[in-house]
Parts: sequence; structure tokens; C-alpha cells
Amino acid sequence: MIDFRAVAEKYDTPLYVYDFNHITRQYEKLKKAFSGRKSIISYAVKANSNLSVISHLADLGSGADCVSIGEVKRALSAGVPKYKIIFSGVGKRDDEIEEALKEDILLLNLESEAEMERVETIAKELGIQARISIRVNPNIDPKTHPYISTGLHENKFGVDIETAKRMYIRANNSDHLDPVGIHFHIGSQLTELDPIREASMIVADLVRSLAAIKIELKFFDVGGGLGIVYDDETTIEPYDYAQAILGTLHGLDMTVICEPGRFIVGNAGYFLTRVLYEKVNEGKRFIIVDGAMNDLLRPSLYNAWHRVEVAGKSGNESEADVVGPVCESGDFFAKKRMLPPTEHGDLVIVHSAGAYGFTMASNYNTRPRPAEVAIVDGKDRCIRQRETFEDMIRLEKMCL
Ligand SMILES: *Cc1c(COP(=O)(O)O)cnc(C)c1O
Repeated sequence: MIDFRAVAEKYDTPLYVYDFNHITRQYEKLKKAFSGRKSIISYAVKANSNLSVISHLADLGSGADCVSIGEVKRALSAGVPKYKIIFSGVGKRDDEIEEALKEDILLLNLESEAEMERVETIAKELGIQARISIRVNPNIDPKTHPYISTGLHENKFGVDIETAKRMYIRANNSDHLDPVGIHFHIGSQLTELDPIREASMIVADLVRSLAAIKIELKFFDVGGGLGIVYDDETTIEPYDYAQAILGTLHGLDMTVICEPGRFIVGNAGYFLTRVLYEKVNEGKRFIIVDGAMNDLLRPSLYNAWHRVEVAGKSGNESEADVVGPVCESGDFFAKKRMLPPTEHGDLVIVHSAGAYGFTMASNYNTRPRPAEVAIVDGKDRCIRQRETFEDMIRLEKMCL
């Protein structure tokens, strides 16, 4: 158990706290699930890109799935070997492509024919052959929130099967492209196995038809998306997940790449915030805290549900909304929850805040972003200092 009140006392609030031992357990569970095959667990950096989080995972053997050159550089500086780094994303700039190619990372994941042409041109200028994979959109409904669903044709991600095939043939004939992998990622917070199995089957069939024309791919990248428990969701066991995928790969000798983000860090993280005031408007109770949507955006952005508790208090509960100080009605953490009476200074713990928490934080309302703390074997360690007012205005002052 983490002593949240002691940590909040030491580092102040709002604050992110991550249990690194939980991260280790999640990584090991998934790695073990794929142990029957060559596999790379490539942590999706966008879920939580703190250098210490990435470096902790790198020490466990993890690779990194990155969606900007900034994330690629984070992964490199956190010690992830370049041969385990993937660069994905639907819109890469020329300078990002060039830098990624120069860094000689494992592969670039391509999402359109136009992008492939850019990569080929840049690789030619550099006099190299670019290792690529292509993101296929298998047109599967992952049955998750529409904002985090990515595997349907109506989404902007990937290319359809026919386009992919054409791209592989072109890439295979190019002196500057080396098609080594195939990729799909149908959505996030997946809690059903069937869509994953179906997508995997469709993509594996494509791999076989490519092999028949002597285009042999080495990496089968199944994306991320494994869901976690926020409330009372039934989730997928890593073992069943791996079996569903591996079951579609008969006859194929490929390294499986898996890109989990949320699964690794989601339930390792807690967001700590303190009660400022309580008030009642026409019978509706509000608990106003010092954290806000700029610190943790998920409730505002996705109407996401997070477990909320008041540290060390219980009994006499009544319905309340937990809200932040930002000037937006969408600035809330929880609505209509049964919570005990609170006082100024009480600590509120928001659970499951390790993924898409700090990485989505902003300076909206000129609020400094929170500090981040790691708990490793019961000991706390600051892994990012709280921003200051000076940090926030530094780049503006340089233009005065
Ligand atoms: C976001 C993303 C992931 C990670 O998704 P999670 O739901 O956090 O596991 C993996 N791969 C790609 C390509 C992504 O865009």
C-alpha cells in the first residue's frame, strides 16, 4: 500500500504517483503470454512518456512504439535500444522521417501511399534503404469508445487490404524501401477478444498471400489496445489475448510485436488532489479540488469514469460531483458519486490515472503541470518536478 497522504505532504498536490512494481508486473504478464514465440513488447510511449517510466520498461527489455520524433528521442535517451523502436503515426513530417531514418530504428510504420513515397524519396537522398511496415485497416469494429476506435474504414488510420498489397509490391521493387513488417491497431480499451482475433486473421491472410509472391515479412505487429479495469469492466486476460493472435499465425515464422500502453501503466497511476471547498447549489453538492481538466483530461474528453476516494474518510456519504477550478463546465473528475463529507485539505485519490493522464496535461488557465513521483519497492522518488510560473512563460519572454 502506498501512503498517499505522506506522498502528498512531501510533494504537494496536484500530483501524479506511479507504482513501478505494478508496471513491472504488467510487462512481465504480457511478455510471458507471448513466450511461445519470438516477440517484442513495444511500450506505447504516448500513454505515459516520462523518461523514468520508459527507462524502467527498457530495463525490463521493452521496446518503444512512438508517434512523433519527440517520442523516438525520448525512447533513445531513456535507453531503449534502437532496434526495438518503432515510429508510427498517420502524419509524419519530412524532418521527422529523415531523423528517424538516420537513427536507424527498427522500422517506420506507414499509413498511406503518399507517405511511402515521401519515405522512399528521403531514403534515396540519404542513400539508404528504409525498413518499413504498413498499417492495415482491417475494417473491424472493436466495440470501444468512438474516439479511441481506429480499425474501421471511417477512421483516418491505415490503408485497406488492397492498397496495402499494392504498396508492398511497390516497396519490394524499390531500392530504397525494405518491407519488413505489417501492422494493425483497431482501438484502445479493448475488452472483447473476437474483434482482435478477426483482425489478426485478416492480416495474417494478407501476409500469406504476400509470401506466395515472395514478399516475406518478419514482424507481425498487433498494435496495443488491451483494456484495463476502471470500474467493473470484464477485461481480456493476456494469455487469452496472445492465444487469439498466435492461433491465426499457423505456417508463419514471424516475430510478434505488441504495443501496449494503457495496459502497462494505466492502473499503476494515481492522481492526487486536495479539497479546496464544498458547496451546494440548489441541493446539488460539489467538491471543488485543486486539480483540474488541464492535469487529467480523460473525464472531460471521453467522459471517462475514474474511481475516486477521499483518503482516510468514510461514512455519511451523499451524492457529489468532484470538480476543478477551470472555467469550463466540462472540468470535472467524477459525477454523482457517493462521497463522505470533506474539509479543506482532505486528499482525493483518483485511480487508474497512469495512462493518458500526464501526457495529455496542458497549461490551460496558466496552471503549471503537476509533479510526478515513482514508488519503487515502497520508496518514493521524484521523476518530474512541478512546473513553475517561470517555466510556463519562458518561451514567451524570449520573444519580448
Ligand atoms: C495508442 C496506440 C497504442 C497504444 O494503445 P493502448 O490502448 O494504450 O494500448 C499502440 N499502437 C498504436 C499505433 C497506437 O496509436
